[in-house]
Amino acid sequence: MQTSTLKQAKLVIEKPPLFEPLDPPSRLLCGPGPCNPHPRVLKALSMQEIGHLDSAFLHIMEETKVLHFCDILGKLTMNSLYLSLVLDQLNWKLAFNLLEPGDKFLVGCNGYFGHRLVEMGHRYGASVVSLQVPWGQIFSAEVLEEHIRKHRPKVLALIHAETSTGACQPLKEAADICHHYDCLLVADTVTSISGVPLHIDQWNVDAAYAGSQKCLSCPPGIAPLTFGPRALDKLRKRRCKVKNWYLDMNLIASYLNKNGSRSYHHTAPINMCYGLREALALVAEEGLEQRWLRHERNALLLWKGLAELGLECLVPQQHRLPTLTTIQVPKGIQATAVTSYMLQNFGIEIGNGLGELEGKVWRVGLMGYNSRTEVVKTLLVALQTALLQQGHSFIRPSFM
Ligand SMILES: *Cc1c(COP(=O)(O)O)cnc(C)c1O
Repeated sequence: MQTSTLKQAKLVIEKPPLFEPLDPPSRLLCGPGPCNPHPRVLKALSMQEIGHLDSAFLHIMEETKVLHFCDILGKLTMNSLYLSLVLDQLNWKLAFNLLEPGDKFLVGCNGYFGHRLVEMGHRYGASVVSLQVPWGQIFSAEVLEEHIRKHRPKVLALIHAETSTGACQPLKEAADICHHYDCLLVADTVTSISGVPLHIDQWNVDAAYAGSQKCLSCPPGIAPLTFGPRALDKLRKRRCKVKNWYLDMNLIASYLNKNGSRSYHHTAPINMCYGLREALALVAEEGLEQRWLRHERNALLLWKGLAELGLECLVPQQHRLPTLTTIQVPKGIQATAVTSYMLQNFGIEIGNGLGELEGKVWRVGLMGYNSRTEVVKTLLVALQTALLQQGHSFIRPSFM
């Protein structure tokens, strides 16, 4: 009896450890996001934990907001009336605190993310009108004006950089039209922030939210969000409280923005704030305009290489995002076979088409840290090899 128990005990000891050491594969992330974080950001993430009400942490948060004010969201000055926040990833949805039940909400749907906002608007009890153009196109000022005049919405939402199609929606005229008709403009700037020219205050965008995992080159988990004076006024005058306590902007604003003293609302994502702080410092060091130019330069290099491979982009160049390119899948090529081949043989991730564009395009992101010449060259060689495997033929391109 005793011997067999001992034997069993021995067996247990000889079992391999339950968990292998954590070892995620090395990838070059050139899809629609996330992209590879900058090494300095990764280092910042692993720094020591401090309490979220510790004055040292409050200092880091204030600093993040200052960097964020001055260098990221256009040319905001310290005494601007904009309220900018850094929140955990899901909390950019706070931008939709601007909606109250029954509010008319006009959404520009020219891709997947617009459709997502329609769904969100319904859940907030808004009266949603979805304005549609074919995927890959943008909304002209005339079309926007016609529909704003017709529907008189309280809020219009537009996707500045539609990651499902690669189209860049101009915002300035849209904001002017909105204000003429007493409507607020909310912009999704997730894939444009720090990669594409964006001037929140000059253009008078009322509220904008972004993400960390695209051109800011920080892992997902934190999100910048900003409200202008008109939006803040609407928030203050809400007739009813936001249903979700965690997502009540008025509660969160008092937690984040009371100088010095903060009341507890939730535990901030402390290490993610370190990461974002470092990501913003990198933007400030490079210079915002320089960073926009770098994204443009590398996108031009990619587009030239694609043309040499006989590939066409979905979006005309004048509205094409430098941060995300949608490539049309040539006839006879199986889209997912190419993406799998690139991942398995080169460790390179590019995206498949989403929604309506599934099987019709590939999505290539050159965002933040990954917008580099050597990344473009590596990507083109891998794409060419994958296409050859699929029987696509072309003349020898110049990048080889
Ligand atoms: C990536 C992205 C988002 C946010 O995506 P999550 O997966 O919810 O973080 C939102 N809008 C656009 C345009 C995006 O590209």
